Amino acid sequence: AAQEGFDLADVEGDLAAAGHGPLPVLAVVGRPNVGKSTLVNRILGRREAVVEDRPGVTRDRVTYEAEWSGRRFKVVDTGGWEQDVLGIDASVAAQAEFAIDAADAVVFVVDATVGATDTDEAVVKLLRRAGKPVVLCANKVDGPSGEADAAMLWSLGLGEPYAVSALHGRGTGDMLDAVLEALPEAPAQTFGATIGGPRRIALIGRPNVGKSSLLNKVAGEERVVVNEMAGTTRDPVDEMIELGGITWKFVDTAGIRRRVHLQEGADYYASLRTAAAVEKAEVAVVLIDASESISVQDQRIISMAVEAGRALVIAYNKWDTLDEERRYYLEREIETELVQIQWAPRVNVSARTGRHMEKLVPAIETALAGWETRIPTGRLNSFLGEIVASHPHPIRGGKQPRILFGTQAGTRPPRFVLFASGFLEAGYRRFIERRLREEFGFEGTPLQISVRVRE
Ligand code: GDP
Ligand code: GDP
Repeated sequence: AAQEGFDLADVEGDLAAAGHGPLPVLAVVGRPNVGKSTLVNRILGRREAVVEDRPGVTRDRVTYEAEWSGRRFKVVDTGGWEQDVLGIDASVAAQAEFAIDAADAVVFVVDATVGATDTDEAVVKLLRRAGKPVVLCANKVDGPSGEADAAMLWSLGLGEPYAVSALHGRGTGDMLDAVLEALPEAPAQTFGATIGGPRRIALIGRPNVGKSSLLNKVAGEERVVVNEMAGTTRDPVDEMIELGGITWKFVDTAGIRRRVHLQEGADYYASLRTAAAVEKAEVAVVLIDASESISVQDQRIISMAVEAGRALVIAYNKWDTLDEERRYYLEREIETELVQIQWAPRVNVSARTGRHMEKLVPAIETALAGWETRIPTGRLNSFLGEIVASHPHPIRGGKQPRILFGTQAGTRPPRFVLFASGFLEAGYRRFIERRLREEFGFEGTPLQISVRVRE
């Protein structure tokens, strides 16, 4: 899939990285030559991005830190993406889709002297579907006579067109004010998984699997760190616990310690609590009672963590009670009931005896490392190229869908976007995921793979 000299690779990696910094991300998208790079230069207030008169010149860097009215944000210039095997229309659309994925808000640049083209209309559709805030920049309005051209762009249905001359700076201040309003204070992409502070663990599992016993074992009364750490605000329902020389934040331990026995709706509240804990955590440690058969409820709890995109560790508790026969059946159950999470690190523990407690931290660290893994786009594409060559998608209806290229659009968990020439069957997607794991590891993390089809 990767083309020789197709330096889109680094550009996409850069964009993906931009989506996960601590600053909100603004993407500047639009057709070639509408003035995106000129506008980015203007926003930065310095000539950093390279502007070329020829369309389709690949720039080697696409994310920049900018500041306006005292607020900092990241700017993504997608101007280097036009040189593309897919043709202009498809590449502009692809560029917009990447930007939509990675950005918190989008500036859509249209050349007001040309007016809205079909390509512009196509991008508008994508933008509207994504629902991210969009600021419409009617560029190349170098003087008052161009205002009428700008007003024509109301027809795009994106609200007020900001008449701007990226070249001379006219109107850019008003447009940037609108941008600040559109940008969230903190980037949406990091959701509960804010960078910094102790790592957050959700200890979950159905009632009686041993959560509170395990917590007591790992915490011990006096080893619970009374939180006086600088810069951390402590939710009183969470607990700081030192394990393996590292301080971890166990979220919603209050929910584990406070054993409420409700007559009705107990399951409902338990699962609500589990969902909330998972939402707040980076890694979920799912406790399973190894002395009993793996149940639907165990599977449901695992699914919650996987669907929320959290790192995952499975701990089989009450190992002290297992005889040889039970161990045999447990392994069979794991093979049949939990195949879909074979990638999760596993520990066999006993909260009662303390067996293998020391293995918990390495497993959690492995899962978090997988969760944060980033594959450089060049490597990803040479890997995809090999797959396409050695295991092409089966021919369907006379056509053979092909992966054109891919990029990792994010981490925590790793998210991939594959661009393909046709619909990829579920079986083939699973195959790709399996191969990705064989090649790059990703132990302990779910992978999110989406496919965009380019006809
Ligand atoms: P990109 O391909 O969208 O990144 O576009 P560029 O920023 O490379 O600009 C394409 C061309 O349009 C360059 O020759 C710029 O100098 C020119 N240009 C950009 N903004 C303006 C503007 O506001 N007014 C005028 N007259 N020309 C502009
Ligand atoms: P929770 O509802 O998940 O918090 O479970 P608890 O920690 O309250 O444990 C439920 C029961 O299992 C209690 O009677 C515990 O003593 C017992 N238990 C917990 N862990 C172990 C273990 O590793 N081995 C054995 N034999 N019993 C355990």
